[in-house]
Amino acid sequence: MPPPMDGSMSESVVRVDGLVFDYPTQRALFDVSCGVGRATITALVGPNGAGKTTFMRCIAGLETPFAGSVTVAGLDVLAEPRRAHQHIGFLQDFFGLYEDLTVRQCLRFHAAANGIAKSRRNQAVERVAELLNLRSRLDQRAGTLSRGLRQRLAIAQAIIHEPDVILLDEPSAGLDPEARESLSSLLRQLRHAGMTLIVSSHILTELEDYSTHMLILRDGRVVEHCPVSGEEASARRLRLMLSDPVDNLPERLMRHFGVGNVLQADVVPTDGATASFDFTGDLNAQCTLLRDLIGDGLPVAALAEEQRTMHEVYRERLRADGPAEPDRGAA
Ligand code: ATP
Repeated sequence: MPPPMDGSMSESVVRVDGLVFDYPTQRALFDVSCGVGRATITALVGPNGAGKTTFMRCIAGLETPFAGSVTVAGLDVLAEPRRAHQHIGFLQDFFGLYEDLTVRQCLRFHAAANGIAKSRRNQAVERVAELLNLRSRLDQRAGTLSRGLRQRLAIAQAIIHEPDVILLDEPSAGLDPEARESLSSLLRQLRHAGMTLIVSSHILTELEDYSTHMLILRDGRVVEHCPVSGEEASARRLRLMLSDPVDNLPERLMRHFGVGNVLQADVVPTDGATASFDFTGDLNAQCTLLRDLIGDGLPVAALAEEQRTMHEVYRERLRADGPAEPDRGAA
């Protein structure tokens, strides 16, 4: 079984080991392993049919895998589903509401279903209604809510029991820009309150707003699992510009401490050359690197940090992973 790709298994609030899931006609997950750290937001991304929904349903204990295990907050979701569910909030991509109940009744029902004691239910409803900005709607029937408000109610229902882990499958589908923005700030707020979120979406620019990690699935396999926000990312990407091309630039760069993954070295005879690479050192180490590169005789014109968007990392990793399997859907 391969080790988890982010190396954070020991402190993980969600642990997935060697997960294999089969539908009657096809295998959807192939030996998936990963660990998700507490109070992080993981963007779960991948082409259509990659296995994101199946993966989330397995974490939520709603599917029985062919092999492997999932633990949430230290509980095996298959062996102890009821206890595990107390730690999980799940918003499915397609959800139903009890249309004839008021928002308050929906929330009270979910509070009861999630085992919140009768004496604490009102307080739980008030708290979550405040968080989701639903206070003024408490006496409105769910069936009369707009799409954005329905989404907010569904999230409120999913988190009323203050779970450790929240799984959100395409939570912003169908929301207007303002509602998307308030969803982003809500997710950041939940993370700051100590919750761990896994959010699946195809809108990478939006995920970039709040995600700390990115987990890329393709054809049922983990292609990448890495930190993406500045505070979490272990390597920065630097871009070097030279006034004249030089031979063996990637090899010459790789000799230096902290340099890795030289993915690109474009030689443009009239404009010199550029290369971009991962660098694990801090600013002092970058200063040393610059001095060493000049000392090596490289005609350095500039060395600066390169900001890569989540979308660029995503495309780069899928490209490096090769073409998708021909018989499976890929966006
Ligand atoms: P999307 O981005 O389109 O929502 P996804 O990444 O969530 O896709 P899944 O819905 O998990 O992917 O599907 C993974 C694979 O399993 C796909 O090839 C899909 O066709 C297949 N699949 C999903 N549900 C079933 C099912 N009920 N029966 C058979 N195959 C299924």
